[in-house]
Amino acid sequence: MNEAMVIRNDLLAKTVIKGLESRNMSGYYVHTKEEALAKALELIPKGSSITMGGCTSAREIGLVDALQSEDYNFIDRDKYEDKRAAMLAAYDADIFLTSANAMTSDGIMVNIDGNSNRVSAICQGPKKVIVIVGMNKICDDVDGAMKRARNIAAPVNAQRFGLNTPCSKTGTCMNCKSPDTICCQFLITRFSRHQGRIHVILVNDNLGF
Ligand code: SF4
Repeated sequence: MNEAMVIRNDLLAKTVIKGLESRNMSGYYVHTKEEALAKALELIPKGSSITMGGCTSAREIGLVDALQSEDYNFIDRDKYEDKRAAMLAAYDADIFLTSANAMTSDGIMVNIDGNSNRVSAICQGPKKVIVIVGMNKICDDVDGAMKRARNIAAPVNAQRFGLNTPCSKTGTCMNCKSPDTICCQFLITRFSRHQGRIHVILVNDNLGF
């Protein structure tokens, strides 16, 4: 990343963090994946139970690998035969890891979900929610964030999971009601009632999609 972009992102991150704090959420800004991993581990006490909702960004910074240690109780839903049991276990976890499909420069998060386990765990259940967000996901406003979520994040996810949706063929949202749609729920997180619950780690890198 060139120096001018780093300076721009450093400034923008300060604005996002101020916005998050005004919404009763905590924000942190780091420059590298390695720093993001260290910050996340600082927020996760040893012995914690941890689960996550399809968080590519957490994998990309090495957090999922780090949590396989016996110091943590990582609840891996892929290892549960009973997916409903995995989802219910997630609500009782100490920590929920996620990303955001997009975030506004004043700290509002936008997430789209098909099964809705991810957006529901952001809303309530796990004691602490840690959100890993690359600076590539920061948008001007909610309208821009919704467009990013629907025209970038959702089509990529539909393609990744081999879903039969219009966007997996066109690369952009066609506002479908396909049985395979992953756009069942749109969550806009504009405030956290519970101080200390939602923590956002902004990373000056391209993470997720
Ligand atoms: S509404 Fe349908 S076409 Fe649009 S992003 Fe969602 S799944 Fe794709």
